[in-house]
Order: sequence, then structure tokens, then C-alpha cells
Amino acid sequence: MAADTANAARPEWQRSRRIVIKIGSALLVDRASGRLKATWLNSIADDIAGLAAAGREGILVSSGAIALGRHVMGLPRGPLELEQSQAAAAVGQISLASAWQDVFRARGLTAAQVLLTLGDTEERRRYLNARRTMDTLIAHGAIPVVNENDTVATAEIRYGDNDRLSARVASMMSADCLVLLSDIDGLYTAPPAQDPSARRLDVVAAITPEIEAMAGDAGSELSKGGMVTKIAAARIAIGSGCHMIITSGKVLHPVQAIAAGAPCTWFLAPSDPVTARKRWIAGNLEPKGVVEIDAGAEKALMSGKSLLPAGVRRLEGGFERGDAVLIRSLDGREIGRGLVAYGRGDAELILGKKSSEIAGILGHDGRSELIHRDDMALARG
Ligand code: GLU
Repeated sequence: MAADTANAARPEWQRSRRIVIKIGSALLVDRASGRLKATWLNSIADDIAGLAAAGREGILVSSGAIALGRHVMGLPRGPLELEQSQAAAAVGQISLASAWQDVFRARGLTAAQVLLTLGDTEERRRYLNARRTMDTLIAHGAIPVVNENDTVATAEIRYGDNDRLSARVASMMSADCLVLLSDIDGLYTAPPAQDPSARRLDVVAAITPEIEAMAGDAGSELSKGGMVTKIAAARIAIGSGCHMIITSGKVLHPVQAIAAGAPCTWFLAPSDPVTARKRWIAGNLEPKGVVEIDAGAEKALMSGKSLLPAGVRRLEGGFERGDAVLIRSLDGREIGRGLVAYGRGDAELILGKKSSEIAGILGHDGRSELIHRDDMALARG
């Protein structure tokens, strides 16, 4: 493990060509005045311009719309009603986009605003469309500046936090690396403010239950995501073959700092390639339920087989045929994600049964697998 004083980034950083950078509201917007932090904004624009000059592709996921808008509208501090945050986002997003446009224009670069709603990554046709648009922008040298379309996103259909959104964007765009600029410089073994023996991890190679247990809450008033949403983002990124970094954005030039070996936590994706379909399944669908499987089925999955009803012990959630579900072991480990061939009702009837019994139980022929291996992305790690 490298020490905090390392003065070079991991080789994965040099090899990353397409990089998604997520910027939280707390870094961009001054809490007291409700204004953008101009010096910081300019410093990160320098960093992105530096990436572009080196032939690398930066994609920004920028929060800040609600934080900016609520101040202009004179909304009270504390949690907002959904309608209030939708309205605040409408006001704030204009200033946010215009600020990015100004700082990039000053560096000879073009900013492109991309506002996404959950359906844009959940529905495959819209997903392919959004990806094509962003690819076109990048091919023309524009810098996509992405945010959730908060003004039309309601409680049921929103990503909700930009940690997850940025992981979905990284997955959708086949990025090499996702950088979460945070108010903390990585994942700690315990909340550092409360536990003096807390230690920052340099590298996380697999998201185990221990890693999940470390995710205390590092959220601040302005940002939605604490460590929990960052770990959720890491799962999505890693499952899609994209590395992820959590590092502090509280310094000027935070991206240059990564190259210079600044303290951070790397979540490393395995090096074997992930097919486009599996990338979508792992990274872009909100699971509607859980399928708990026994050890025999887990072994079968690991050796590349499909999930048969016989190996399923328990189900959760009101999923329908074709929905994404989490595949878990009996001790709660996430084994992967997949699209189910049966809705909860039918699945409940055939659970634990042999595939040859399916037709007799349901009264019609159906697929012999509950989740076909082509419709499955294993967590791999
Ligand atoms: N989309 C929200 C905004 O721009 C931010 C969500 C988040 O901070 O995670 O204000």
C-alpha cells in the first residue's frame, strides 16, 4: 500500500483516457453567500483544459443547481419540499451552466449542458440515444456538463444524488475512470472525526460487506451524497469496468493533485472487458427486487452458468418479468445483477423447483432459467 506522501498517481490514472469528474454542491457553492466559488471553479476549469490539451476526454457531472437557485429564491435553510427543489433547480441550473460556459470559453473550450432523467439511462433506446449525443459532443471537442434534470424529476423517477448519476454516466460512456471530488479525501475505516485511529484506504479491490460497513455518513448540508452513495457509485462503476477515485475537492486544482499522488481511495475495476449489454445491466438499472440463491447456484454462476429456479431460496420486491434484480447469497453478499425472466408471482411458484417442472406448475411453457447468463452481470470481486 502506498503512503500518503506518494508523489505519483497509480498507473491506472495515466492510462485513463475518458474521465468523468463529479463535483458536489458544497465544493462549488459558498454556503453563506449562495454564490459560486469563482477561484475554485477556475482552478478546476484549468485542470479539465489540461486533460483536453493532453488528448484526454473530461466529462463533468456538476451539482449546484438547487444550492444556487434556493439562495436566489430566498428559500429557507434545511431540507426543501420536492416542488421547492424542482423550482430552485430551474433557477440555479441557468447560472450553473452559464458559469461553466464562461470558464471553459475563457480557455478556448466549449461547454455542453446535458440534463438527464432516470429514464434516459434505464430505457435502452433512450440510453443509446443519450450516449450517441454525448459521444458526438466529445468528438467535437465539447465538454459535457451533466446534471440531473431536477425540475422534471419527481421522487419516484430520480437518481436523487449525483454520486450515483455520475457512476451511471461513467458506465454509459464507457469511461476509464470516475473521480468523485468530495469533502473527504477517501474512504476511511471509521468516521475520522469520531475515531482517531481511522485510517484511509488507498485501494479497494472488491466491495465486501466490511467495506460497506465503513461507509459512515460524510454528507454535508449542501450535498446529498454521503459515503453510502459513494460506495453505491463504486459498485456501479466497477461492475461496468470503470475505476473510481474518491479524493478531496477542497483544494485548488484537485485533478492535477490526483496526478501528483494526492491522498485518495481507488476502487479498482477488474481488467477483463465487460460487454456493452452487461455494462448496461450492471450500471444503469435500478434493481426492483432481490433473488437469494444457495451456494450451489452461486458456484454455477461463477462458472458462467445461468440461474435456474432450483437454486433460488427467497425473493424480495415486486419485480416484473424483464426487471433488474440483485442476486444475493444467503449471507447477504451481492453476487451480481440480472434481468428476471419471470415476475415475482410466477417466480415464487417455481422457486426451488426443477426446470422440467415449470410448465406443469405455471400451466404454460416458459424459460428454464430465472436469469439467463446473457442477462446477468456478476459483481466480480
Ligand atoms: N442535482 C442536484 C443539484 O444540482 C444535486 C444532487 C447532489 O448533490 O447529489 O443541485
